[in-house]
Order: sequence, then structure tokens, then C-alpha cells
Amino acid sequence: MRRTCEFYICPICFATNDKPGMHHDHVMIFCKQLPLGDDQLKPVRDIEGDLKTRAPRWFLEAVWDAAGMDYKAAP
Ligand SMILES: [Zn+2]
Repeated sequence: MRRTCEFYICPICFATNDKPGMHHDHVMIFCKQLPLGDDQLKPVRDIEGDLKTRAPRWFLEAVWDAAGMDYKAAP
């Protein structure tokens, strides 16, 4: 039985693999196992507490940093 949940995911179609590689002309993103409740697993909310996106922070950091997208949440 696997004890860890670490894999690679395509940022375009969310296909997964247990080995690194390319998919849809993008490098697949490594997803490390995070502890339950980790802030990187949570969606980003704005200052009023409304969801800015349903995507978890780890995904935004991996995919949208390069695009310069602002996803900062309320402290
Ligand atoms: Zn893909």
C-alpha cells in the first residue's frame, strides 16, 4: 500500500503521472504530499472572505506565478 501521495499533474488537463514529463506542451507540476489543513491546500479568498478561485494555492503558485497573476489572499 502506498504511504505517500506525490505525483505530477498537467496544468492544462489535470492528467497525472507518477513520473515527471511533459503534457500539452507544459512541464508537469510536482505535487508533494502536504499535511491536512495546510494553507497551500486551501482556496484563495479575498479580503472580504469571498473565494477568488477554487484552485488550491499550491496550484496557483506553480502555474500562475510565471503569468504574473495576483492571487494574494487576506492575511
Ligand atoms: Zn495535459
